Amino acid sequence: MVEPNLELKDIYKSFGTATPAAGLSLSVNKGEFFTLLGPSGSGKSTVLRILAGLEQPDSGDVFINGEKVTHIPPWKRKIGMVFQQYANFPNMNVAENISYGLKGMNLKSTEISARVEELLALVGLEKFEARRVSQLSGGEQQRVAVARALAPNPRLLLLDEPLSALDEKIRREMQTELRNIQTKTETTFVYVTHDQEEAITMSDRVAVLNKGLCIQCDTPKEIFQKPRTKFVASFFRGCNILECKPDIGGKNNLLLAGQSIPLKIKGKKKNGSFFVAIRGEAINILKTQKNRSKSDFVQLSGHLKSITYRGVYSEHQIVLNDGQILSATLSHDQDFNEGQNVTILIQLEDIILLDQD
Ligand code: ADP
Repeated sequence: MVEPNLELKDIYKSFGTATPAAGLSLSVNKGEFFTLLGPSGSGKSTVLRILAGLEQPDSGDVFINGEKVTHIPPWKRKIGMVFQQYANFPNMNVAENISYGLKGMNLKSTEISARVEELLALVGLEKFEARRVSQLSGGEQQRVAVARALAPNPRLLLLDEPLSALDEKIRREMQTELRNIQTKTETTFVYVTHDQEEAITMSDRVAVLNKGLCIQCDTPKEIFQKPRTKFVASFFRGCNILECKPDIGGKNNLLLAGQSIPLKIKGKKKNGSFFVAIRGEAINILKTQKNRSKSDFVQLSGHLKSITYRGVYSEHQIVLNDGQILSATLSHDQDFNEGQNVTILIQLEDIILLDQD
């Protein structure tokens, strides 16, 4: 059985009108790379600060390895933290920064040196031990901060938007680097980001937060391909959200742009509007209608509104018969013209019925 390393039980925290935790419960497994993803103001940093002990919840509890730590001060929690601002000591060199957290641990100087060597190798800074941190690039400084936080073997490493200050190329390299470091050390990482791509690239599981609540907690693949709500679906670039109506004639069917499609609306309320999510890359565009008897495909009609070159793909915007707009991501070699009538083909399993929230 997978052991929980960290548990948040019914955490509530408000600051006047803002409620960054509104009865939040989460469980993070030992050795997991767990990400809190959400827009700015959704409560991510406050939750991380509550985990660290830098903020007290109004109610609810935090457990680390089964021990209740809600009212235990930060320095007694055996947790490491990495922030967006590198938080190193600029007047010290790399080795001094890394060994700083080992002081007071009753280690011999040879043991400290060996641990520093090990961490320098882990973060790929072997040749930099005597360099002042102020002489390092942003990415290198963040490696020092990670090594320093990992030096005392924390029970958890909390990372608050640690790559946000880096430029795109270094950020991507550091995403892979951080994931490798986490896998090698088997330390539980709790990572905060507002960047959907970063979250799904690095994590074992992602919790999507909104207004202090967890809207969906799943593997990156599930979150990306099977969003449960409109909020989660709209968070991921390239996801279309379309409105449907119940099909009076067809049991449990929905009407999408005039087509009856068999989706399981059983158990959901039968009136009002429903929404489905369809990823842009799941959409095929055809010039003519196909005679398809198979019920695992849905055919819709519309016309091409625009074709936009976006580098690795072209975005094709289609106006469906009911006026709703669908955006498909296609390779460049497709031979379509703006204004042309088209048929849309989508596999039924790629049409995700969203919860009515
Ligand atoms: P995120 O990290 O997702 O951007 P935060 O946890 O920083 O979200 O903030 C969530 C909400 O709580 C915001 O509306 C923010 O203004 C508010 N907030 C956070 N910390 C404080 C504080 N110390 N005092 C007052 N309001 C705060």
